[in-house]
Amino acid sequence: MATMAAGLLAAANLQAAPLPGFVLTAQTQHFSFYSRDNQKVDSQKTERYLAQVEQLLGQQVEGRAEYYRYATAQELAAGTGTYAAGLTLAHSGQIHSTQAFHAHEIVHLVAGQMGNPGVFFQEGLAVAIGNEAKWQGKDVDSLARKAAGTKLSSLVARFDSMDADTAYAVAGSFVNRLIKTHGIAKVAEFFRACGPAGTNPAAAFARTFGQSLDEAGAAWAATL
Ligand SMILES: [Zn+2]
Repeated sequence: MATMAAGLLAAANLQAAPLPGFVLTAQTQHFSFYSRDNQKVDSQKTERYLAQVEQLLGQQVEGRAEYYRYATAQELAAGTGTYAAGLTLAHSGQIHSTQAFHAHEIVHLVAGQMGNPGVFFQEGLAVAIGNEAKWQGKDVDSLARKAAGTKLSSLVARFDSMDADTAYAVAGSFVNRLIKTHGIAKVAEFFRACGPAGTNPAAAFARTFGQSLDEAGAAWAATL
């Protein structure tokens, strides 16, 4: 469920649409849906959920995004270079997914247009909202407990090197706590404060929430 905000993959091999072998199967106001091998897409549910997330975050997605439905993570890897159940290239307006409807990736699509606080916060928001603060069906707070003794700034910096289940649970738990404590509008404000280039998210965090990452992390860890 990676997000590639920088769109490096897009530059390499995802410029042409549709991808080879995919056929247009549905169109809504905000999406063109492509699939192959008769894989299903839930176009109406996807369109409705996008509108919900847009309203929640106060962010409209410009233009029409492309939703590519794959049968398996192996096929998605062959098409994008990333082995995952889903992948969103927010700047290219593309969702690649192994699911007919994929709430987590739709959150990435909207949030990716607000600003880039980095992968920890992008994944945290997608888990908190799209996965309803669960990971592999378990509550993220209980999964995150084992990381509670580590400084949050270190967890943010090490997101990519942690084992994925812990990383996603920790990020989801922390961002969910931010939403509960400060409200979703404040969290959206933080994303915007980081700008598209994502320069110095730690400073933007402190400006927005009035405390450092590690202060907020200690307060979060105490609740786990
Ligand atoms: Zn993700």
